[in-house]
Amino acid sequence: MTEVIQYTIGMSNGFFIRSGETVIAVDSGGEMGDGPFLDVCRKHGIDPRSIALLVVTHGHVDHFVNMGAMKALTKAPLLCHKLAAPFLWEGLKPDVFGRNALGRAVMARQAIEGDPIPFVPKVEPDILFEGTYDLKPWGIDGKIIETPGHSKCSTAVILDSGQALVGDTIAQPPGASTVGLAFLSDTENSDAVLFDSVERILSAAHTVYSGHGGPFSRDEVMAALLEEKAQQSQTAGAAE
Ligand SMILES: [Zn+2]
Repeated sequence: MTEVIQYTIGMSNGFFIRSGETVIAVDSGGEMGDGPFLDVCRKHGIDPRSIALLVVTHGHVDHFVNMGAMKALTKAPLLCHKLAAPFLWEGLKPDVFGRNALGRAVMARQAIEGDPIPFVPKVEPDILFEGTYDLKPWGIDGKIIETPGHSKCSTAVILDSGQALVGDTIAQPPGASTVGLAFLSDTENSDAVLFDSVERILSAAHTVYSGHGGPFSRDEVMAALLEEKAQQSQTAGAAE
């Protein structure tokens, strides 16, 4: 049985995937420091040194801010997509903008309130991949796939058991009560690419674990996708 454990540190979620004796960690939560990570390990009976692999879903700081501490505590290698790597090793902040009305509202609020994580720490990834990455050699029945749309480097962990860990490709926007598709993007006109990524996730998963909020059911995410598609065709109709 493959178990997904979700925890929240600061503004974002981190995860453990446990299968028998094997544990891997996905994303880091949104704050730096040994303390919060050791607390969640203790709470779930996980010895940090037993964690075999660290995975970053995409190159945004609220998903890898604590990976430096996690590398030191676990001694595990850090894996990310080839396109995410420069953000990690150079401590870069991506240019993102609101993909939809909700996202534009979030960006406007952030312009007033300031960046929630203004500093991007550098961390060295050990394993880079592109295409599909098989997790079976690590003892986890699943794979990592490319899911661009929120960012060019976005990926999702898809477990054979039907659980998906999707980073920000699917997320609950701050202040919203329901799940939505990525409200920020690093690419103009990314809707079609994002919708395709979400459809591929839903074709493989019944439960969706997100960087923000959740977990969400397949039906909840499907409803959000259909609503976005309806809005898009309305906009297209109005423009004709
Ligand atoms: Zn992100």
